[in-house]
Amino acid sequence: MNIHEYQAKEILRKYGLELPEGILALNASEAVEAASKIKSNVWVLKAQVHAGGRGKAGGVKLAKTLDEVRDIASKMIGMKLVTPQTGVEGKIVNKICVEAGSDIKKEYYISVVLDRNHNCITIAASTEGGMDIEEVAKKSPEKIIAVHVDYTIGLQNFHIAKLGFGMGLNKIQLKNFSKVVRALYQSFVDTDASQIEINPLIETSDFKFIPLDAKFNFDDNALYRHPEIEKMRDITEEDPQEVEAKKFDLSYVKMDGSIGCMVNGAGLAMATMDIIKLHGKKPANFLDVGGGATTEKVTEAFKIILSDHNVKGILVNIFGGIMKCDIIANGIITAAKEVKISVPIVVRLEGTNSELGKKILKESGLKLEAANDLEDAAKKIVKAVS
Ligand code: ADP
Ligand code: MG
Repeated sequence: MNIHEYQAKEILRKYGLELPEGILALNASEAVEAASKIKSNVWVLKAQVHAGGRGKAGGVKLAKTLDEVRDIASKMIGMKLVTPQTGVEGKIVNKICVEAGSDIKKEYYISVVLDRNHNCITIAASTEGGMDIEEVAKKSPEKIIAVHVDYTIGLQNFHIAKLGFGMGLNKIQLKNFSKVVRALYQSFVDTDASQIEINPLIETSDFKFIPLDAKFNFDDNALYRHPEIEKMRDITEEDPQEVEAKKFDLSYVKMDGSIGCMVNGAGLAMATMDIIKLHGKKPANFLDVGGGATTEKVTEAFKIILSDHNVKGILVNIFGGIMKCDIIANGIITAAKEVKISVPIVVRLEGTNSELGKKILKESGLKLEAANDLEDAAKKIVKAVS
């Protein structure tokens, strides 16, 4: 799960970090009211959307007077922000954060990630903050210093020293920088985060280090332990189909291909996606209806797949174990009654009650193509959408 920058900063404040004062605003007059409460002669208005790269796209703007605050806020709220992270469709800005403008001497970068390659928590820092860190990683990787922290040992002084000296910080700077590293590490562990990214972490002329931007990603599987974080969820920022899928406890991830997949079991879902690609097309989604799905759940799954306009055909691939093939067959029929199915469907049923499932589908009169095995199914659906 992702949260907004202003929420990420609320978390960091709890860990004792100094951050510019900021107030959320939903319209231009709230923005002016917010700015007049914040003691500063420069304000920064920041679009709150779940995507980075706002600065270059016009989602971060400086205002020097209250009139400018009103003017910028009225243009920013309601605008469609398109950044490399929003995709071409962009994101509508519903709220902005009005912040005190900071005096920036230098911009650094720091992130904390759950590093599955090294089985540890990795902290990466760089003197090249503020800009596209992916570019820095490509062009001058030596400018990114990384330390691997063993979770059972925890963050130690030598980790911080390696980061700080690697970036050429002096002792005074290191002392202030270490406060930030400790707070980030502790908040990462406490909240079951999977990633924190601070870009930029700024240094002021009096050597203080302040996070000016903050992104948190949390491990969805650990959210049940953090109701206060779950409350920060903003479903208007999430993919509507994925939100709908969660309600029915379906594992659904939207992708950018044209073949919708309805599968039981994560492994089989992956194999189905692979074989679609092998035959020259791309999957429109990952979908695991799970082991004990009901007809209702299968119907919902169908509706979700069909609500994606990129879907030009659907491949149903079920290996009946706990999940019985007749349940899937009935789900397809119920869904067909509730939503207009205008795309070709190829069905492969195997395992428990497969014969019954095939019979139900055959007698339903629906226009479906049956497949003998996975290879056959993939070939048929790819042909049907080509
Ligand atoms: P994004 O990463 O989405 O572009 P940031 O929060 O990093 O958004 O803002 C982009 C740039 O705007 C920062 O690199 C910084 O230079 C400037 N900026 C952001 N917040 C402030 C602030 N409170 N005061 C001064 N400058 C800021
Ligand atoms: Mg940033």
